[in-house]
Amino acid sequence: MRIETERKLDFDDVLIRPKRSRLKSRGDVDVRRTFRLPHAGVEITGVPIIAANMDTVGTVRMAAALAEHDIFTALHKHYPIEELQKANISGAFSFVTFGIDDLKKVDGVMNALQSNSINKICLDVANGYTEAFIEFIRDVRKHHPGKVIMAGNVATPDMTEALILAGADIVKVGIGPGSACMTRAMTGVGYPQLSAIIECADAAHGLSGLICADGGCKMPGDVAKAFAAGADFVMLGGMFAGHTECLTPEQLAHVKKDEGGLVEYYGMSSKVAMDRYSGGVAPHRASEGRVVKVEYKGDVKGTIQDILGGLRSACTYVGAAKLKEFSKRATFVIKNAA
Ligand code: 5GP
Repeated sequence: MRIETERKLDFDDVLIRPKRSRLKSRGDVDVRRTFRLPHAGVEITGVPIIAANMDTVGTVRMAAALAEHDIFTALHKHYPIEELQKANISGAFSFVTFGIDDLKKVDGVMNALQSNSINKICLDVANGYTEAFIEFIRDVRKHHPGKVIMAGNVATPDMTEALILAGADIVKVGIGPGSACMTRAMTGVGYPQLSAIIECADAAHGLSGLICADGGCKMPGDVAKAFAAGADFVMLGGMFAGHTECLTPEQLAHVKKDEGGLVEYYGMSSKVAMDRYSGGVAPHRASEGRVVKVEYKGDVKGTIQDILGGLRSACTYVGAAKLKEFSKRATFVIKNAA
């Protein structure tokens, strides 16, 4: 056994220090970015925020709404392929999600979606530290050399490097910070998210790879902190949950009738999700997700305005005219440092 004594930080442990700036207005800040993907060899342009691949968030309606703002969606993996083919979703802003699946399934789905111009794959497992996952990334990369591959989750630089070397363009970073996550409580495993972002971004950028900070953002200031820490993309679950675009027509009718209605947001490893998609919780495992009730928030465009307004303002506070410059200009102060 070994103890690491260096202090690791979460979003709540820090603030971004304000700096003198020449910027006149937050309206001058450009929150779009263009990235070149190291393996796929293509470029992605947009506002680098991604709706999480959870069935209460990464819906086709959410994808359509977010694409209007050049924001990305990782569609949840439980859609029948025919539904995705018919859906009016933008290839430019959509990722298709898989777990460790049969390669033939990945090939089949990606071929079927060629006419929708979807070229982005999200390979999502709770624990990205297994050899089997590395092998799977390697295989998917071999079969899809020109597609964008985002893979995770991990929380440390060694594994960030391993996933990029196996063929991932973007590594999803976050073990345990999610608002519907029970991993830390059920297993004792995790890593403070702000430090994970700082350390994994450094590792990824050294290999020309990118990271997506996944989990733990509860408010727009946390999104700003994630970008300031070096995240190229930020994935949001809870902040995008509870909107019109996440709900079925029946759920929508219910919350609208019941003023101030609550909506269920649950982890993809929760009992609710496992009952729905895997025929219950298998005897060898425990649920590592919880059910959270969130208030119905109306259409997602109001939340987008809050998030992007907060982000532009944060950039103004440190004199960054572009999101691209934000991390270089940002300094964190630790709150109540001993
Ligand atoms: P949030 O933005 O709500 O804080 O976090 C969203 C992220 O939580 C997701 O993108 C995913 O990585 C993670 N997550 C979703 N469901 C579960 C779950 O059931 N268990 C765990 N450990 N993490 C989850």
